[in-house]
Amino acid sequence: MQIEKTVAGVKAQVREWKKEGLSVGFVPTMGYLHEGHKSLIDRAVQENDRVVVSVFVNPIQFGPTEDLESYPRDLNADSILCEKAGAALVFAPEVSEMYADNFTTFVDTSGVTEELCGKSRPIHFRGVCTVVNKLFNIVTPDKAYFGEKDAQQLAVIRRMVRDLNMNVTVVGCPIIREEDGLAKSSRNTYLSAEERQAALVLSKAVFAGKAMIADGETDGDKVLDAMKQIISAEPMARIDYVEMVKWDTIEVHHKVDCPVLVAMAVYIGKTRLIDNFIQE
Ligand code: AMP
Repeated sequence: MQIEKTVAGVKAQVREWKKEGLSVGFVPTMGYLHEGHKSLIDRAVQENDRVVVSVFVNPIQFGPTEDLESYPRDLNADSILCEKAGAALVFAPEVSEMYADNFTTFVDTSGVTEELCGKSRPIHFRGVCTVVNKLFNIVTPDKAYFGEKDAQQLAVIRRMVRDLNMNVTVVGCPIIREEDGLAKSSRNTYLSAEERQAALVLSKAVFAGKAMIADGETDGDKVLDAMKQIISAEPMARIDYVEMVKWDTIEVHHKVDCPVLVAMAVYIGKTRLIDNFIQE
């Protein structure tokens, strides 16, 4: 498996593959890879001749008070995971390789970015869309893989790809969880043992909400109230948001009469965690 630090290096390799008629799958990540990322890589390896994984902590998607500096990094472990999973190339650029000093061009996707994380992280999706657009231009994948863990991000990327006629198929992949239910996340490493236990209120609320809807509840506010109660019972938890939105447009919605996304962001101590379920 190849590790590339430069845009030119990735482009040259992909050009070779395309000349040979090989299909290219792509998994963009911020690294510190776990089983959730691996599930995306596994799926990409199944569906494509060659798989590229990018490992890049993208500074422009972090707000000024967020965890850019402390975000966990381990390229060595990431490379081993990627190689074992069957990836052909890891693209791990420095920030300067991705953003020249006078970088001034951004991709802004409105509408789908107004609720949920878009509300509490105002510049986040502009940063995500810009870097994913750049990565798509560098890797030119046939298919790109995104986790439902970041459900709003998946909806935003789908919208960007549709609106800008990008030549890539976006594939959404299910949330991978720890045995006790906690959604896997690189940010779980921030949690103390006590916080790790408290963090279970997110998945507990997700499972409870899902069960209510499975039992026939269609009143979104009742579902959200029950979920909020579960979270509020944990003293270490502070709700950022718990909302129900239409899955395709990410507009607030109160009734389960179309595909909906029920999503939350909750602080456990200083760590902001997200979780969700999609009701198709
Ligand atoms: P990140 O490195 O956190 O930016 O995530 C890179 C990709 O992996 C995104 O598409 C995430 O949605 C996906 N991902 C992260 N955690 C999980 C998980 N627990 N299950 C499924 N996909 C995940």
